[in-house]
Amino acid sequence: MDSKQFREAAKQLVDYVCDYLDNIRDRPVLPSVEPFYLEKQLPDSAPEDGEPWESVFNDIEKLIMPGMTHWHSPRFHAYFPTANSYPSILADILTGALGCIGFTWIASPACTELEMSMMDWLGKMLNLPEEFLFSSRGNGGGVIQGTASEATLVTMLGARSQALAKLASSCSSNQSIPLDKLVAYCSTQSHSSVERAGLLAAITIRALETDENLSLRGETLEKAIKEDKAKGLIPFLAVATLGTTNSCAFDNIVEIGEICQKEDIWLHIDAAYAGSAFICPEYRHYLNGVEKADSFNMNPHKWMLINFDCSALWLKNRHLVANAFNVDPVYLKHDKQGQIPDYRHLQIPLGRRFRSLKMWFVLRLYGVKGLQEYIRKHVRLAHEFEAMLKTDSRFEIEQPVVLGLVTFRLKGSDELNEKYSKAINDRKQIHITPSRINGRYTLRFAVCARTTEQDDIKFAWNEFQTVASQILKENEQTTK
Ligand SMILES: *Cc1c(COP(=O)(O)O)cnc(C)c1O
Repeated sequence: MDSKQFREAAKQLVDYVCDYLDNIRDRPVLPSVEPFYLEKQLPDSAPEDGEPWESVFNDIEKLIMPGMTHWHSPRFHAYFPTANSYPSILADILTGALGCIGFTWIASPACTELEMSMMDWLGKMLNLPEEFLFSSRGNGGGVIQGTASEATLVTMLGARSQALAKLASSCSSNQSIPLDKLVAYCSTQSHSSVERAGLLAAITIRALETDENLSLRGETLEKAIKEDKAKGLIPFLAVATLGTTNSCAFDNIVEIGEICQKEDIWLHIDAAYAGSAFICPEYRHYLNGVEKADSFNMNPHKWMLINFDCSALWLKNRHLVANAFNVDPVYLKHDKQGQIPDYRHLQIPLGRRFRSLKMWFVLRLYGVKGLQEYIRKHVRLAHEFEAMLKTDSRFEIEQPVVLGLVTFRLKGSDELNEKYSKAINDRKQIHITPSRINGRYTLRFAVCARTTEQDDIKFAWNEFQTVASQILKENEQTTK
């Protein structure tokens, strides 16, 4: 393909993308294919001779679309949102064309420097303490990770390394390093990625019980630390969550932060979903206590219109992570080393894409006000759905609605709700995912797509009511 052919193909594809997103409501949100549907239709091996673009283009609709779950359908209400916007897609085109691998400053100074500035811009939008920003010219700064899971792992490794260094300095040098003595804390409501980071980092993680609001409290953490120290263990890290995946609950980071400071252990805050809302002054109070944290993470790729992958991690002392897995081969050295961060030290892979372009385009084209409006609209739609639920006595709301997530169930057994959730998804008109909250099978309804409107909420509510009537009737008949 040469540039002339590319121009034409790209224009054709842009038209396809626009039509796809404009008419996405017309497609069932869930596909109707069975496992290996695609294998049956694809040739066994790559073509010997190159094919024309036209035949690839035609296969998008024929082969790919039937196997798509349409995450950007306004009728997608599963998991949490994943971001999508035109400015971000535009940036991805440019990122692809520049195709740089910005592991060091010299590997593309613009790639490093735009990322530093964008992380500062976003940090200021969130009103993060100065110490987390590069502009403070201290040890702090932000880095774009691929995902919140990587952010947790990277900080866990940084905290582990710091803990081991502290121990080494207090032990004689020939003593073995007691990795199995280290213990980190999260709550029973933490995302599974925290447990997974523990497995990857070979660290024991204790999931602590929450209070009746599903919030981890300082005294629970303090008690666990005391118990573990008495057993000869070494607590070194706590991971708190703002906006849990199950129910959007908030850990009490003011209390937890105090305990962490007192006990000299690292506090990491995971606000993957809810973090975007903190750009609105009315939600910023949820972030009070962040000044006591060592690291803070949120996903603009969830709720801030920046396409996957873009997970923002700020560190108060980035050197603690950089020094944790520092290698320095000759082929990566450069003249300006040490004057400005080399991002390769703050992540697990070496290579990295120019992801800050997406932030730059989105922040400039929407502006802070545009993004705030977007968050507020989603919260408003969630409350509208909550109000609909309240008009129908067959339903109960599980947890208070704070942001864009509504948790609820049909009054009745877990079995009934499981059947209900399955029946909703089987119709493929809307898509939801369940959860277990306070031991009970619960439905989650998240406002997800950028283009979800009031009518889509009404559409979903109509689905919920219709299917509820069916299921309750069937239930009555089988119990008769
Ligand atoms: C979604 C989510 C994650 C995982 O996000 P990834 O970026 O996919 O790793 C972690 N924590 C919470 C609270 C989440 O909601």
